[in-house]
Amino acid sequence: MIYKPTIGLEIHIELNTKSKMFCSCKNDSSEVEVNKNVCPVCLGHPGTLPVTNKEAIKKLIKTALALNCQINKQSFFERKNYFYPDLPKGYQISQYQSPLSKGGYLDLPSSKKKIKITRIHMEEDTGSLMHPEGADYSLVNFNRSGVPLMELVTEPDLETAAEVKEFIKELQLILKYLNVSGANMEKGEMRCEVNISLAPKDAKEFGTKVEVKNLNSIAVAGASVGYEIKRQTEILEKFGQVIQETRGWHDAKKITFSQRQKEEAHDYRYFPEPDLPKLVLGNDFIEEIKKELPELPSGKRERFEKEYGLTAGDIDVFIGKKDLADFFEKVVSELGEWVGSEKGVELKDEEMKKLAKIAANYLINDALGQEEELKFSPENFAEFVKKIYLNEISSKIAKIVLTKMMQTGSDPSHIIREEDLSQISDTIEIETIAKEIINENPKSVEDYKKGKQASMQFLIGQMMAKTKGKASPELAKDILQKLLV
Ligand code: ADP
Ligand code: ZN
Ligand code: MG
Repeated sequence: MIYKPTIGLEIHIELNTKSKMFCSCKNDSSEVEVNKNVCPVCLGHPGTLPVTNKEAIKKLIKTALALNCQINKQSFFERKNYFYPDLPKGYQISQYQSPLSKGGYLDLPSSKKKIKITRIHMEEDTGSLMHPEGADYSLVNFNRSGVPLMELVTEPDLETAAEVKEFIKELQLILKYLNVSGANMEKGEMRCEVNISLAPKDAKEFGTKVEVKNLNSIAVAGASVGYEIKRQTEILEKFGQVIQETRGWHDAKKITFSQRQKEEAHDYRYFPEPDLPKLVLGNDFIEEIKKELPELPSGKRERFEKEYGLTAGDIDVFIGKKDLADFFEKVVSELGEWVGSEKGVELKDEEMKKLAKIAANYLINDALGQEEELKFSPENFAEFVKKIYLNEISSKIAKIVLTKMMQTGSDPSHIIREEDLSQISDTIEIETIAKEIINENPKSVEDYKKGKQASMQFLIGQMMAKTKGKASPELAKDILQKLLV
């Protein structure tokens, strides 16, 4: 029997606001001193009152709009009641019946498959527990207590580990483009729970679902899906029953393990938060946020392909490195002006694509990874690209020039002058060297005269070696051919 996996995600995302959700404490996920950013409100002291953080609401709406969700103009907060040492109030302020937004989708970039988003609601984070090695007690750090948290729930539209990983990755990119969250899973800024069930291929109903928690990276989220598909398939093949339960991920063993079963499921006794007014959003507020939406990864992908004709691989690098992509676009705009002005013609598509390709190649293959921040300006880099395009410098010299540019940030013409790298285009000089090469390589000369074209390539190579890459390849070829007729 073939079983079909059904997967839905529940994702918690910490918003990168300046202050916490209901008090003015600093929201700082990188604070190392424990219990530093705390106050009576986020410590749950009796008699304190929460005040809603407008910036957090804005960031949630921004995310919801980017994910094609409807915005609920009237919603409210509720208390989710439960006891845990990291929750001093004994309840978490959340949204249950009336989330801020619902009914959106995200398209997976590779397949364009639509993954529906059920809802995105606003809540607050809990503190965090620490378990000192060897100790028989735990410690609580309340720095995270009351940090704005969005919860995003998807419909069970995902089917494979690859789709799960792609969804999380794309969501992470969108959150970063929107500047609403650091979205770093390893740091706990984004936390993912996977719901997964299996059913026979043609079944009309879903199977029993299992929820896997504690997934702290995209790789682990994918691995947990792979593991559960295998585990549940084996159970079903033996005519067994999958138990509805919450499972954890054991990182050392790379397996999931049972944490708690449905009978122990919580009843949170949700009820409306009496200390906060209803959340009512005006049209203007939402329209303002709409105007602030930046270009999203999907739009950028399409544009980079259409405008610059880059390969999917190059586009992927730029999509993941927004700063580099922005730099690239400045370079291209510089080159566009040049193509337009210098040649006195309209910006030509093919020519622009060639220039863009050179720029992308050198940026991705040579400049990237060498340094965190590029030292040279887009203008200087555009100048560099032009020199390659016009064959003013060979690829060998280009690498030397670029290395210097990365070290000093100075412009390519200056470097070429200073380092004496300019191309030898003096006919007499090249002719002299060509004669030497002809004398030194009688066999190749003979082969060429017999019609072996590759020998000419060899002789040009010799010319490049002798001139340390500075001979103009075209001139070298012309002169060699002339001397060998
Ligand atoms: P619960 O009431 O147990 O929290 P929900 O209906 O709220 O369940 O769904 C929680 C998550 O589980 C959602 O992401 C949803 O898409 C997913 N889900 C629901 N049913 C299934 C199923 N049979 N198999 C896999 N995922 C499911
Ligand atoms: Zn506080
Ligand atoms: Mg639920």
